Amino acid sequence: MKYTVASRGDQLSNDLQETIQTRLNAADLIEDTEEPDIVITVGGDGTLLEAFHAYTHRLEETSFVGIHTGHLGFYADWIPDEVESLVTHIVKTPFQIVEYPTLEVVIRYRDNNSSERFLAVNESTIKSTEGSLVCNVDIKGEKFETFRGDGLCMSTPSGSTAYNKALGGAILHPSLASIQLSEMASINNRVYRTVGSPLVLPQHHTCLLKLLNDVSVQVTIDHFNVSLDGKNVDSIQCRVAEEKVRFARFRPFPFWKRVKESFIGE
Ligand code: NAP
Ligand code: MN
Repeated sequence: MKYTVASRGDQLSNDLQETIQTRLNAADLIEDTEEPDIVITVGGDGTLLEAFHAYTHRLEETSFVGIHTGHLGFYADWIPDEVESLVTHIVKTPFQIVEYPTLEVVIRYRDNNSSERFLAVNESTIKSTEGSLVCNVDIKGEKFETFRGDGLCMSTPSGSTAYNKALGGAILHPSLASIQLSEMASINNRVYRTVGSPLVLPQHHTCLLKLLNDVSVQVTIDHFNVSLDGKNVDSIQCRVAEEKVRFARFRPFPFWKRVKESFIGE
């Protein structure tokens, strides 16, 4: 089996990375950053998000597992003390795989009708960087509302505990192939009206955000800003992607237990 280990870059994570490499090489596993079967991340959820984006071209062949070194660790759910046990599990392969839905984002630009496609594990957001963002929200090709406010967030179920949660969105179990649209500070008065509640859309229901004003915007995909290079965003289309993210599962650690441990405590 081929593996790679990605580190956040701090001393503890780098040391663990080296320990894991030594142990896996001794067990005749092959280190291969180009075409790994398993990607082990050491750091936090941010480290796992970065690793995901490095392998979006071969998601079907790649499984992820994360160790968290002092960070929250929602995806990266192994602790440094468990590294020996994790390594033993990996050496013993085959392992079980759990698949989570991802979000497909298509950004269309006004300039020369170009477009770009992205996948997100957590979410995509659009925010105005100057005044209010005004956009039409179309669902399944029908106009739903006109949004006016700071921005909008489209989240996956596994991303529902991240930014979406801070926006008052619901926590969704990742077995529900869906996307959740939540608002950032919508203007609501006699003149402007939005539904105000987060919306959960099932598979194949497309959500199209069509920009109506000329504000400059920031578009994010998980941890990074999409580089717009002066291009003007015309619309952003979101739906549940065909692609899934695969996590290597070596022990039961149910989603609701992770939610409890992350947000409520032991
Ligand atoms: P970061 O600023 O370190 O992330 C913020 C926090 O979100 C970290 O504690 C991170 O965990 C945690 N996190 C990431 N994915 C999560 C998930 N699916 N469920 C629960 N918590 C999660 O930046 P980052 O590590 O590069 O992560 C990028 C993410 O930050 C974005 O995808 C977005 O969801 C989130 N974010 C949240 C807000 C907000 O809540 N107001 C604002 C901007 C961005 P680790 O410490 O383990 O990395
Ligand atoms: Mn982080």
